[in-house]
Amino acid sequence: MARKIKKGDTVLVIAGKDKGKRGKVLSVLTKTERVVVEGVNIVKKHVRPTQKNPKGGIITQEAGIHISNVKLVCPSCGQPTRIGFKIREDGAKVRTCKKCQSEFA
Ligand SMILES: [Zn+2]
Repeated sequence: MARKIKKGDTVLVIAGKDKGKRGKVLSVLTKTERVVVEGVNIVKKHVRPTQKNPKGGIITQEAGIHISNVKLVCPSCGQPTRIGFKIREDGAKVRTCKKCQSEFA
């Protein structure tokens, strides 16, 4: 299956505790089909002291959420949308917005 969500996309969370939040995709974990979204699913993590962080303690970071729990927000119409694919005349495969039909990489 082609990967629909890419790093740098803006997505809307449609399920879970952060439902309704929008954020930028920081990374896509293809193996587990999860995406890490800025400001979404923040978890506290206890860390042991290291050289870099001699105090250790609690850090907060984004944990990934399953890709089925987000929807792409179209960069053109700003609406959460389903994504289509299209082969352009120059042979490049582009994603398309099912709502406004605009193309994006
Ligand atoms: Zn659109």
